[in-house]
Amino acid sequence: MKIGVLALQGAFIEHIKTLQHLGVEAVEVRLPEELDGLDGLIIPGGESTTIGKLAVEYGLLEPLRRFASAKPTWGTCAGMIFLAKDIGHDRQPLLGLMDVTVNRNAFGRQLDSFEVDLPIKGLGDEPFHAVFIRAPIVTETRNGVDILARLEDGRIVAVQENNWLATAFHPELTADARLHQYFIELIQRQTG
Ligand code: GLN
Repeated sequence: MKIGVLALQGAFIEHIKTLQHLGVEAVEVRLPEELDGLDGLIIPGGESTTIGKLAVEYGLLEPLRRFASAKPTWGTCAGMIFLAKDIGHDRQPLLGLMDVTVNRNAFGRQLDSFEVDLPIKGLGDEPFHAVFIRAPIVTETRNGVDILARLEDGRIVAVQENNWLATAFHPELTADARLHQYFIELIQRQTG
């Protein structure tokens, strides 16, 4: 199994390290041809406007859309924004695949970053220590989108739609590799 991590900007190294720790081959993706032969892709956190702009410049937008339409793809934080179909009034390049509405920087300046222990569907009883950094939230989900996690106040922070996974927080910044393992299992189910 070989998983790519979009390496235009943001926290891609940490994802690669976590995948390698789990014994999976992980490669940085900056060019369209680097998607060839991958079984899955992670779009990291960072700054979604920058990731979008660079994806356009590198001719990656269409290749990424094509890849994600065929293979499991997981967006964390900025990656969640990039995967979404709808981000309200903001105008920026998106893959526009997941049938969710996402609100960028949803926690405002007072709560720039915070950490919570989050129960996540499919990960067992042990909550996941989730690090949020200028995080988005999902404000609406439509047909076929499964909600995997909510904050205590009900706001949605992890979703899955078939082969697409999106988390508002940064699972690559903590030692808990259960979400990476979950993604690997999603790929294994697809490749049989
Ligand atoms: N606020 C960033 C954005 O809008 C996302 C932050 C993150 O990825 N940690 O793209």
